[in-house]
Amino acid sequence: MGHVPHVYVPGPWPDATIRLTDSIRHHLRKVLRVRDGSTISYTDGKGHIGAGTYGDDEIVRGDEQEVAPASPAIVLAVAPPQSTERARFVVEKAAELAVTELRWLTTLHSGPRIPRLDKADAWAVGALEQSRGAHLMRIGEALDIADVASLDVDLTLAADVGGSPILDVLASHEAGSVAIAVGPEGGFDPQELPENITRVGLGERVLRIETAAIVAAGAARMG
Ligand code: SAH
Repeated sequence: MGHVPHVYVPGPWPDATIRLTDSIRHHLRKVLRVRDGSTISYTDGKGHIGAGTYGDDEIVRGDEQEVAPASPAIVLAVAPPQSTERARFVVEKAAELAVTELRWLTTLHSGPRIPRLDKADAWAVGALEQSRGAHLMRIGEALDIADVASLDVDLTLAADVGGSPILDVLASHEAGSVAIAVGPEGGFDPQELPENITRVGLGERVLRIETAAIVAAGAARMG
């Protein structure tokens, strides 16, 4: 099925066919290069996935199934990198790694340069389609580290140079949900990290924000 295009079509789908908006049709024809009558994979981004037939302005629904969300649930809170391209990279790679929710993190040493939500959502949709996922990564409101500490998750981590190796920390908890904070280029301020957040290390070298975000999310996804 690797060559079959996979498209995000928001639900609900009340009928045997899914009517497509002009922008989705355009996307299917011009970007995914789908032809009338071809098989298409579709998802509502909320766990439903199906294989149907594309025709003109609709998808004729076929076999469908429900896909469980990836475990553990991961909330990734990342200080926004300075350029749009680097922020896009974070969004796309986090979405590929089935991060549940991405939040932009405001810190003492980072400016409030938060990517536009509509753009970030579109990057997440592109990555969902490319990686053939069934759960669209949510992009929530920006938060600060105190907000991260009060998220309702089993384990809260902050990536910090010199922290305990992340794989060891993950292995010693059987967390169903994990929040991970990644700091700005200047690092977290020594005063900034609350006591109840475990500092985790990602190897000896100083990583860029986006590398740290991907490594931390990958470790949690596969740990
Ligand atoms: N100048 C800062 C590093 C900033 S790197 C310092 O020396 O601490 C940007 C962010 O990536 C950091 O705040 C941290 O969250 C994460 N990061 C980078 N390298 C890391 C490593 N080796 N271990 C853990 N976190 C790291």
